[in-house]
This record gives sequence, C-alpha cells and structure tokens, in this order.
Amino acid sequence: MSIKVENITKIYGSQKALNNISFEVKKPEIVGFLGPNGAGKSTMMKILTTFINASEGEASVNGYNVNTQTKNAQQSVGYLPEHNPLYLELYVREYLNFNANVYKVSKTRVEDVIELTGLAPEAHKTIGQLSKGYRQRVGLANALLHNPDVLILDEPTTGLDPNQLVDIRNLIKTIGKEKTVFLSTHIMQEVEAMCDRVIIINKGEIVANKKLTELREGQSQIVIVEFDYRVEEAFLNKLSHVSHVKNTHGFIYEITFSTTEDMRSHVFDFAHDNELKILQLNQKNASLESLFRELTS
Ligand code: ADP
Ligand code: MG
Repeated sequence: MSIKVENITKIYGSQKALNNISFEVKKPEIVGFLGPNGAGKSTMMKILTTFINASEGEASVNGYNVNTQTKNAQQSVGYLPEHNPLYLELYVREYLNFNANVYKVSKTRVEDVIELTGLAPEAHKTIGQLSKGYRQRVGLANALLHNPDVLILDEPTTGLDPNQLVDIRNLIKTIGKEKTVFLSTHIMQEVEAMCDRVIIINKGEIVANKKLTELREGQSQIVIVEFDYRVEEAFLNKLSHVSHVKNTHGFIYEITFSTTEDMRSHVFDFAHDNELKILQLNQKNASLESLFRELTS
C-alpha cells in the first residue's frame, strides 16, 4: 500500500483539524483529496510528508511509518506544498541543482526532471521570470528529484489560468501512470479531470471515498438550451432520456437527462427537425458538483 492512514486525529490547541481519519491509496493511482477551505487537507498532507506529527493514529508511506521510519518515509515521498515556496532570484537549473546536492541526487537526474516536466525551454530563466504554470512545473520537478514512489501535491492547480491548468493536469496525469499521486483541491472539476478516486473531507472527517466511475453511475446531465421561440415543455419531454424540463426564463430551457451520453447533438437534431433555431447550447454534469455541495455544506 502506498499510503495508509489509520485513525489519525490532529489537534492544534483547542482546534480539532482531523478527527479519526482512515484511508488507503494504492500504486499507481491518482487520488483527489477534496474539501472546502479549512477542511484539514494540508494538515493531512503535512503529516504524510513528516512535517508535523499527528496527535493520535498511525500513517505510513510506501510501508514506512512516518513516526518510526521517518527517513525512509521521506525518501518515498515527493511534496509540492500549498504555496509552492521558491527562490525567485535563482535560475531554474541552479535551484534544482542545489536541491539535487542536498538530496544527494545526480546532476543527470536534474536534466531528466527538467525534460519530464517540460521545463527545458524555460530552464535558463530565473524562477521569478516564469509564469505561475511554469513555477508549478519547477515545484513538481523539485518534488520528483529523488524519484519518489509517492507524490503529495497540495492544491497544485489553484490559481492557474485555463491554459496552464490543462498543461499541469496533463503533466500530473502522465506522472500518475507510474507513481501514486495524492493531490488536494477544493474544486470538483479538478478531481473529474485528473483523478481515479476521490476522498472528500469536511471539517476534519471523511464524508466520501469513491472511484469516479462509481460516482458517475446514475449521474444526470443538464443541457441548457435557448431557442428563438417559445417551446412547450411537454414537447421537449419527447426527447429520449429526458427526466425533467424547466423553462428558466425567456426561451431558455434546462433539460435534465438521465444518461451520461452527451445529449447536445440530440437536442440540436431535435431543434432542426422541428424547425427551431438554437441561440445557445450548454451542458453541465449536475450531480458530482451537487454531491460535493451536499456533503460539505
Ligand atoms: P485545508 O488545507 O483543507 O484548507 P488546513 O489543514 O490548512 O485545511 O486547516 C484545517 C484547520 O486547522 C483549519 O481550521 C485551520 O485554521 C487549522 N490549522 C491549520 N494549521 C494550524 C496551525 N498551525 N495552528 C492552528 N490551527 C491550524
Ligand atoms: Mg490547505
């Protein structure tokens, strides 16, 4: 087992940040640790990376107990902290070489991680000259230097613009083919885009631990469509897999389908066959988002 957490509780003064938490993560697997701000995500990650001790319970990484086999646990884990602390005035290669020295990792490994994280075209710049997306790559490269089996990434995609987001997600997915990745986020879409499984935490307690495929079963889909003219709701009910139609305002309708198949083209064909014009057409997966809201509100 790559990560094993058994009955972990963490108390800061009078504040209980984690309350009797247990879960496991296998290799290779990308698991999302999802929860609102203050849920206890960073606290759990700091315990797994041996930065802080739990008040009660046991945790191990790669089979090494974080309290009693700390050195081995540290060697097994790469960590990208929440606010990715970097030395902005250092050059990318300088920074990674420095850490390679500290970790007693060869210089060729530095070149390997630069290649792996797509940093090569930017490696001659100072970290301060890089975009947020490239800074995250430096953080990932740093976490990968000692070639750990387990990667712990604390909110790796928070604050990235949409293009950077796609690049970093793809990079994490690539890394996750070989390693165990445990990443935190407060956004359900991040989990949907990257993870095999999600562990949802709220107020220090685990409220769900499920494979994404399980969550998607029985999921509904909402298509939002605007026609150029009024349409009877009963008429739209003739579409296949429809479970609910609601005229939200004007000629805009929210149509709920009980299928995971993308229904936009069916709506488009339906409009065409009935000589309706579509002014806008959008789709959203309703239930994963609302499930998260239900579990954490
Ligand atoms: P998350 O990462 O999910 O936003 P954290 O693990 O950072 O949550 O925090 C969980 C709770 O513990 C919060 O209420 C936070 O204020 C509290 N907390 C975190 N670190 C400390 C600390 N060093 N001292 C006191 N309270 C803390
Ligand atoms: Mg946090």
